[in-house]
Amino acid sequence: ATPTALMVGTARSAKMGVLIKNGEVLQEVSDLDTVVFDKTGTITVGKPQVTDVIGDTNQVLQVAASLEESSEHPLATAIMKRAEDDGLTVDKVQEFTAIEGKGVRAEYQGQEAFVGSERLSDEVNISQEMKTQAQKLQNAAKTVVYVGLAGEIIGLIAIQDVAKPSSPEAIAELKARGLKTVMLTGDNEAVAKAIADQVGIDQVIAGVLPNEKAQHIKAIQDTGAKVAFVGDGINDAPALSTADVGIAMGSGTDIAIDSGGIVLVQNDLRGVVRALDISKKTFNRIK
Ligand code: ADP
Ligand code: MG
Repeated sequence: ATPTALMVGTARSAKMGVLIKNGEVLQEVSDLDTVVFDKTGTITVGKPQVTDVIGDTNQVLQVAASLEESSEHPLATAIMKRAEDDGLTVDKVQEFTAIEGKGVRAEYQGQEAFVGSERLSDEVNISQEMKTQAQKLQNAAKTVVYVGLAGEIIGLIAIQDVAKPSSPEAIAELKARGLKTVMLTGDNEAVAKAIADQVGIDQVIAGVLPNEKAQHIKAIQDTGAKVAFVGDGINDAPALSTADVGIAMGSGTDIAIDSGGIVLVQNDLRGVVRALDISKKTFNRIK
C-alpha cells in the first residue's frame, strides 16, 4: 500500500463527510457481506415524541416525568417535554435507579414506581385492556413505556421516533451492492419490525440488552460473515469495536466516535454507502 494513495482517498472522502481512521479499514470494507444497524438515532431521527397516553393522562405523565427527570434517555426527554407542554410539575422522588436497557425505578410519594419496558412490568398487575392497547400501539411502530405504581400498571405512554427520510434509499443502495442488512435494537420486536419494514431492512434482532449488542455481532461473524456495525450511542461502543468495520455517526456520543474505524460527519445513512464505495475504490487503487 502506498501512503499517497491512502492520503488521496482519505482527503477526498473527508470532503464527502466520511472520515476513515486507518488504511486497514479499506481492506475490511472490500470483504464485507453484512451491515448491522442500531435503530434509535441511526436509522431513526432519534428525537422521539409522545403520541398517546393511556390511563389518567395527567397522573400517568406526572408520575412518569417525576421518575424520568434524572434520566438522559431519549424516551425520558420525550416524556419530560410532553409533561412540560401539558403544564405539569414534577415531584421529587427517592431512591432513583436507572436499569440499563429497561427503564427507571424510584419511590414516588412513598410508593414503588417504575417507567420502562415490558420487562419491568412482569412483576405487577396489568389489565387485559392495557395489554391489548400496548399491542395495538406497538404494531403502529410506537414504543410503549409502562408506568407502574404500587404494584399496578397505571398507564402506558406511546412514543414514536420516525425513520430518517434518507434511510430507505441508503438501505436499498446497500442491498443493490449485495449486502445483507440487519437491525439490532433494545426496542420491542413489533416496533423494530415496523420500522424495518418502512426502510427495507432484511432482518431484525430486537429486545437486545445494551451489553449483548457486541455478542450478537460476534455470533454473526461466527457464521463466517464479515460484518460492519453502524451506531451512535454509548451502548454501541462495544459493537463498533467488535465489528470488522465500525461506522459511527458523527452526531453520536464521543465514545461511539472513538470506537468507529469510519466516522460519518453527516447524520445520514447514505454516508455508509459513500464510505463503502470510497473505501473499495481506494483499496483497488493501492492493491
Ligand atoms: P435502543 O437499542 O433502541 O437504543 P435502549 O437499549 O436504550 O434502546 O432501551 C431499550 C428499551 O428499554 C426501550 O425501548 C424502553 O422500552 C426501555 N427504556 C430504557 N430506558 C428507559 C427510560 N429512561 N425510560 C423508559 N423506558 C426506558
Ligand atoms: Mg442509538
